[in-house]
Amino acid sequence: MMNKKNRVCVVGSINMDVVTTTRKMPKQGETVLGKDFRTYPGGKGANQAVAASRLGSDVTLIGAVGDDVFGHDLLTHLSEEGIRTEGITVIPNVPTGVANIILTNNDNRIIVAPGANHHVTPEVVKQHRKLIEQSDVVLLQLEIPLETIAYTVDLAYELGNDIILNPAPFQTLPEHILRKVTYLTPNETEAEAMGLTKLDIDIKHKIVMTLGERGVHFMKDDMMIPAFSVPVVDTTGAGDTFNGAFAHQLANKQPIEQIIRRANAASALSVTKMGAQGGMPTALEVEQFLT
Ligand code: ATP
Repeated sequence: MMNKKNRVCVVGSINMDVVTTTRKMPKQGETVLGKDFRTYPGGKGANQAVAASRLGSDVTLIGAVGDDVFGHDLLTHLSEEGIRTEGITVIPNVPTGVANIILTNNDNRIIVAPGANHHVTPEVVKQHRKLIEQSDVVLLQLEIPLETIAYTVDLAYELGNDIILNPAPFQTLPEHILRKVTYLTPNETEAEAMGLTKLDIDIKHKIVMTLGERGVHFMKDDMMIPAFSVPVVDTTGAGDTFNGAFAHQLANKQPIEQIIRRANAASALSVTKMGAQGGMPTALEVEQFLT
């Protein structure tokens, strides 16, 4: 295994994506025969942890799964990805989080059942305080309870960590949280929902807004860092790859323009392959892509 150095602690969700493909979307009360069925590891927390780990960061994930088949499969999968799993609590009598996805050629329907992710309480984070103390960068998304986000941001701020908050899926965040994070990484829709024009300058300057194939706008320096032009196969997980790579580069103490450029490269590579985690590149793949 590669020699890992920089510590990233992700506090976030872990899901199994349960995907059924079908020619025809069932109508209300209808049963149709599907084409294919697969399960894929997912959840924004786990996806971003995998992205940072593949690039060579020493990654710890704080989260929760149920004491069921999906939970145990996901723990094995995350360990195989080189992620430390001692911060993952296995909760009895609660299901692992799932995203139920029905796909046709031109439509999709998704139901997310958060399950164990809703049991990632401030208490769970408190129990794993050491993991946060030992990390350089703490990376969060919004698929676990907001009170846990607030608790983690307060703790990481007090400990002097860099904090990246990916405000997805969007929820309104209290201002005291926004003030303590180092970087906010909304996509365009999330940035709009945050009410960019109303934000004060200190918060605005933390925003690294991802703009899909157009790249990234870093508000502090009003700097546009363009995306890389690649043959697109599946953009699922582009944002998660960007955030994991951003955390990896930040822990690596790179200048901000380099951080964003390399995160753009990693996420460009991710859209050239199927699946959220399927296309997440290794450090070597990013190097080769950039030379
Ligand atoms: P998703 O929800 O699909 O995971 P997102 O909406 O959170 O993504 P985006 O802004 O679409 O995030 O993409 C994140 C980053 O991924 C972009 O800033 C860019 O660097 C890269 N990216 C996304 N789409 C493309 C593309 N078509 N070509 C090259 N790079 C891309």
